[in-house]
Amino acid sequence: MRILLVEDDEPVAQSLRRGLKRYGFEVDWVATGAAALAHAGPYDVVLLDLGLPDTDGLDVCRALRGRGDVPIIVISARSDETDRVVGLELGADDYVTKPFGVREVIARIRAVMRRAQPRTTDDAGGADRYGSRLTIDRRAARVRVDGEEVALAPKEYDLLAFLTEEPGALMSREQIMEAVWDANWFGPTKTLDVHVAALRRKFAGVLAVEAVRGVGFRLEIVQDAEAS
Ligand code: CA
Repeated sequence: MRILLVEDDEPVAQSLRRGLKRYGFEVDWVATGAAALAHAGPYDVVLLDLGLPDTDGLDVCRALRGRGDVPIIVISARSDETDRVVGLELGADDYVTKPFGVREVIARIRAVMRRAQPRTTDDAGGADRYGSRLTIDRRAARVRVDGEEVALAPKEYDLLAFLTEEPGALMSREQIMEAVWDANWFGPTKTLDVHVAALRRKFAGVLAVEAVRGVGFRLEIVQDAEAS
């Protein structure tokens, strides 16, 4: 996924770019509104700082929205309450407030991408469907296989919810520990293996959690003959 980052504050831009790259996003960074509007693309999401040196970020937002429906996430300083409201009125999809962590930005990116490309949902309403057998209702934190609820420990659910955000994507042990256990995890990750083993056991034949040696894990949906 490619992100256009429009931010004139170099330390903020660099740290965001590094963080996003660690999570597998490609980032094109520009520091002015003019450069943002001149960027030929393609990109999947725009992260747009409102305080730019050459143009008002809100004008950039309006111009980008006028061109198409690429998701726009506005970056605003805490004091700019009005900017945020106007940004959303001008067609921004979401906003983050400075200071923010990279995980918060990634959560917003994933959320706007989900809205841009809605998954197949269950007839029962609200649940995400994976393959022909598994559904995850993220609002209710309920997981079903063939319509039967699967009992999960809280961290088993969190791990499953995280890995199913992007089936097929390779997630490093550090990314998983950071997202599911603690933002600043530097210790041993044996507890992760224990939880992966539990998911493999509970979702045998439905999900495969492949270990990639020295890196992390990759979750795949097992497609049965009927589904493929
Ligand atoms: Ca700025």
